[in-house]
Amino acid sequence: MAYNSEALVEVHMAEKILLVEDEARVASVISRTLRMEGYQVEVAPDGETALSKTLSAPPDLIILDLMLPDVDGLEVCRQLRAAGFKEPVLMLTARDAIPDRVAGLDAGADDYLVKPFDFDELLARLRALLRRAARSEVKGPLRFADLELDPVTRRCTRAGRPIHLTTREFDILELFMRHPNQVLTRDLIYDRIWSYDFAGESNIIDVYVRYLRAKTEEGGGSRLIHTVRGVGYVLREEPW
Ligand code: CA
Repeated sequence: MAYNSEALVEVHMAEKILLVEDEARVASVISRTLRMEGYQVEVAPDGETALSKTLSAPPDLIILDLMLPDVDGLEVCRQLRAAGFKEPVLMLTARDAIPDRVAGLDAGADDYLVKPFDFDELLARLRALLRRAARSEVKGPLRFADLELDPVTRRCTRAGRPIHLTTREFDILELFMRHPNQVLTRDLIYDRIWSYDFAGESNIIDVYVRYLRAKTEEGGGSRLIHTVRGVGYVLREEPW
């Protein structure tokens, strides 16, 4: 898919990944790929550095190689969880090391990937983990201007007036409300709402935005979802 790289960087701005890998060459290839996808990446070459970096500035996700020179990945994972780190941990394991994978999940990893892996697979796993984490992180309702949307009860109101949304409309509006004032490309919206390999008709998003505008602007509410011509849409109080 052809992403608008600028918009993608904006959306990933808060997503910081800590890569724990001792092999410098592997670490550099992975971190370069992640940076190209718009993630912020820090590399820790050993378990001790990983722990201290995580405790001083917690990342949004950790990619943790099992084979490390000092404390092994399992122990690092256990210590991170014991220290209260709650964000996703994706563990990298050696090929066919099934006992390692089981142990990794037992130690508190959320998912594992077997080396050597395909980068598309790595990126898909990361997106899935980050998406899952984002869903569970917000306890209360999301608010933007006089719009309120509660991911738990799935209720939406504008200035206190209930707005009835379909599942898909709700998910798209939730995505906008999690990234206010950021331009979201159509491709990115597909990616987050359908799936990373969804090859849909490009006007589906436009149709949903039209529905969302009709529902949120009913009764004279000002426009909140604005078109950014040739790029996508943005949730803003003022036109782009
Ligand atoms: Ca290693």
